Amino acid sequence: VRIGSKVHIVGGGLAGSEAAWQLLSAGIPVVLHEMRPVKMTEAHKTGGLAELVCSNSFKAQGSDSASGCLKEEMLALDSLIINSGLKASVPAGKALAVDRILLSEYVSEKLSQFAHFTKIEEEVTSIPTLQQLEKTDEYWLIASGPLTHGDLYQQLLALCGEMKNLYFYDAIAPVIAADTINRDFCFKADRYQKDGEKEGDYLNLPLSKEQYEEFIDDILKAEMSPLHNFEKANYFEACLPIEVMAERGKETLRFGPLKPVGLVDPSTGKEAHACIQLRCENKDETMYSMVGFQTKMKWGEQKRIFSKIPALAEAEFLRFGSIHRNTYVESPKVLNKDFSFKSNSRVFLAGQLTGVEGYVESAAIGLLAARVIAARCLHKDYSLPPPTTMMGALAHYVLAGSAGEFSPMNINLGLLPPYVAPKRMGRADRRLKQCERSQEDFQAWKQSVVVN
Ligand SMILES: Cc1cc2nc3c(=O)[nH]c(=O)nc-3n(C[C@H](O)[C@H](O)[C@H](O)COP(=O)(O)OP(=O)(O)OC[C@H]3O[C@@H](n4cnc5c(N)ncnc54)[C@H](O)[C@@H]3O)c2cc1C
Repeated sequence: VRIGSKVHIVGGGLAGSEAAWQLLSAGIPVVLHEMRPVKMTEAHKTGGLAELVCSNSFKAQGSDSASGCLKEEMLALDSLIINSGLKASVPAGKALAVDRILLSEYVSEKLSQFAHFTKIEEEVTSIPTLQQLEKTDEYWLIASGPLTHGDLYQQLLALCGEMKNLYFYDAIAPVIAADTINRDFCFKADRYQKDGEKEGDYLNLPLSKEQYEEFIDDILKAEMSPLHNFEKANYFEACLPIEVMAERGKETLRFGPLKPVGLVDPSTGKEAHACIQLRCENKDETMYSMVGFQTKMKWGEQKRIFSKIPALAEAEFLRFGSIHRNTYVESPKVLNKDFSFKSNSRVFLAGQLTGVEGYVESAAIGLLAARVIAARCLHKDYSLPPPTTMMGALAHYVLAGSAGEFSPMNINLGLLPPYVAPKRMGRADRRLKQCERSQEDFQAWKQSVVVN
């Protein structure tokens, strides 16, 4: 079938790459505009597509968690990002973690196999008007991510009409060379690992009460990197820097990233007072990241304070923690219910810019937005998955918003409508039921949609 329409995608990140794949698979010509490596963002390091800028984790797998169910739904819709993630996976317990270089390579390889795919390395500075797009029968999908800046940012503002600038910070955790971690002071285990199970994937660094308290004191006294004048600290709750958590109370970190529960130190047979976890970053297991250690402490301070942890006394930090701006729009106000702008119905938005948070979530919105556009190009109807499914819940949050102030959201079971359970059913069982309902509703929806 010859398709007259063409889709331009701005940004070859998680959302843009996924969207390109979905459109190309539907037979629609795609022009992907990616500014890297000609122009880099503050966080990206390569010119590769779908680069992960921080952690290498795609979070939980399996159909008993929100993140796991989301990935299963995406796989059922032939997600390029999740399929590539599975091919590039590295050991991470029950989570899906990936080798970021391999992931990027798989994505590029899969997209370049289409004859109707064009990639242009250039910075996009303007978006055509509705009249221009109607004339050429083209659509644009903006997926330029949380670090969108410059002229495109101004274009976004124009598309958003009266909207004020909205931004907050994400923070990067340090990465350590594996062979510089002293294994005498750590143990390998996954949380809640049972006797006889295979060796865990996480490296755990136990801390005594005294070590923990000194660690907190050090963090509280540490010198921080200054914020730019135009930025104001407005952190996303699920990605708080450790110093912000430490400021909330001496015990806060023990109930967060330094939680010792379920991590039994084999040398004592007990859980430690607190426990730092390190997760493998690549297939060769040469790099480990400090789980949940986002921070804006100055690099010298990070080295000084983290080196006091016995296992890290000689650690080589391949990357220090840092902090970044995040841009998103107030989607429920400015977008139609199909991810197109109210101000220009041939321009769509996807990825983190829509107000989701996370790699998988961003790719999920890219996937859905692309399927909506594909249906438009093919003159077919398309309905989004219902809000009882994970993808539907995420899309619903973005397009319809929440009761309070609109702020970025990652996937969680709280996004689903409540499950009316028998009185005596426990929380864990209720969650499982929610997941089951989500899977059933997703299957029913999938069978009912025209483009799948
Ligand atoms: C510092 C930082 C750390 C993060 N850490 C995590 C994490 O640990 N885990 C997690 O799940 N999520 C994390 N996130 C969020 C993560 O970035 C997003 O979830 C995800 O990458 C967003 O996907 P996206 O496709 O919307 O944007 P991106 O993946 O950022 O892709 C946007 C692309 O658009 C390109 N681009 C931008 N402007 C233009 C332009 N004008 N013209 C052409 N191309 C352009 C960029 O080069 C980029 O390739 C982090 C974000 C930041 C900023």
